[in-house]
Amino acid sequence: MKTICPWCGSSKAEIKMEVKDEFLSQEEFHLCECTNCGMLYTMPRPSKDKIGEYYKSDKYYSHQENKSGFIPKLYELVKSFNVKNKFNMATKGKTIGKLLDIGCGVGDFIHTAEQKGWDCVGVEPSDEAKNIAKSRTKGNIIDSEKLEQIQDQNFDVITMWHVLEHVDDIKWQVNQLQRLIKDDGRIVIAVPNYKSYDSEFYQQHWAAYDVPRHLNHFDKMIIAKIFKSKELRLINTEKLVWDSYYISYISEQYMQHSLALMRGVWRGLISNCKARHTGEWSSMVYIFEKIH
Ligand SMILES: [Zn+2]
Repeated sequence: MKTICPWCGSSKAEIKMEVKDEFLSQEEFHLCECTNCGMLYTMPRPSKDKIGEYYKSDKYYSHQENKSGFIPKLYELVKSFNVKNKFNMATKGKTIGKLLDIGCGVGDFIHTAEQKGWDCVGVEPSDEAKNIAKSRTKGNIIDSEKLEQIQDQNFDVITMWHVLEHVDDIKWQVNQLQRLIKDDGRIVIAVPNYKSYDSEFYQQHWAAYDVPRHLNHFDKMIIAKIFKSKELRLINTEKLVWDSYYISYISEQYMQHSLALMRGVWRGLISNCKARHTGEWSSMVYIFEKIH
């Protein structure tokens, strides 16, 4: 197997872990750590025409409204809290302007941002998700390639909520971010953190490795390094506190433990308590600005 780092291109890597796609295909993948830059990545990487197969599940892009029952209602409540929280993180201290949400899914974030008066563009590769997003927003949802046609310095805020780990060509993507953001703009990147307690606890069963859908795996060091090389400075980090519970719950299911929900909530709670001291949350939000 020929390894090639998606960030620096080095072929030198060490296999750090074997991870199975427990969500869907049950196939085995490697997590490789680049010995040159420290980037952790999935190998083998499915080709562009094969990767779609690994997303073929009802659990992706599901968008169900008006479901009855306690759990769906609770889920909707958490989701709505989450979106508002993300919106505040992304726009705090900014005046209303133009926002780009890359990997917008069914448009939850854009829907909220538009309600608050922001002029939004979304990028979404899945046709199914894109159509739902179009129907719920002002409809400005485009394909990734179309980004190249947008003029430089066009956006005040660019967000990627749990998307960079899915991106095949990180270099191209980060170049686009750097090109499209205004000089006083803000870039917000949320990704799972494999240095978190829940990651270290669940090891190869950690649900946020999610191979091969997650091609890239990040910690704070590599994220800062990648963006710094594009003159983007990490100015703040935030956390998504609900993710530790959700990821731990799914990890417990992968391990086929009974009482997965209870165990997951407990483990998620421990992860969040530890992260208050270590700063290593299950999901991190990195906020960047241009270096002037
Ligand atoms: Zn590398």
